[in-house]
Amino acid sequence: MSVLSIRRLPDPILNQPTHLVGRFDAPTQRFIDQMIATMRHHPRCVGLAAPQVGSRLRIAVMDASAHPKAGRTHGLLVLVNPVLGEPEAAEIRREGCLSIPAFTGDVRRATRVHLRAQDREGQAYERRLEGFEAVVAQHEVDHLNGKLFLDRVANLATDVFRRKTYL
Ligand SMILES: [Zn+2]
Repeated sequence: MSVLSIRRLPDPILNQPTHLVGRFDAPTQRFIDQMIATMRHHPRCVGLAAPQVGSRLRIAVMDASAHPKAGRTHGLLVLVNPVLGEPEAAEIRREGCLSIPAFTGDVRRATRVHLRAQDREGQAYERRLEGFEAVVAQHEVDHLNGKLFLDRVANLATDVFRRKTYL
């Protein structure tokens, strides 16, 4: 399975909204598999959204389970046409992004959300996400709406940090 190249800031596709997916045909499923392979290829990458690999389809993949902050998770999730609702609680956590490799930032996110989405075959499903996994889902759905974590930090001067390497 080929690994897709990552679009980085300031690539304009990262700021554009995505289109709902209506077909779950072989090319769509192949693309989802390539997204999963690309996420797995990058050490400690826990999520990837289609705009990050140059597509405007409303698709993200995530797997928070490998991350030390994760706690209990649902493992690999394929999010096609995802909708997040019922956000509860909130806390500030440090976030990074493959598309912004030089920085991390402190972002306020809900720690519980309800996810509705379709899977790789188009089957609708729902999950309740908590903690780190809930944060990853919000980060990825933001990508699908053309938003980056830098758009979410309260103060660019004090809440963004330079780093030498990704994670
Ligand atoms: Zn990201």
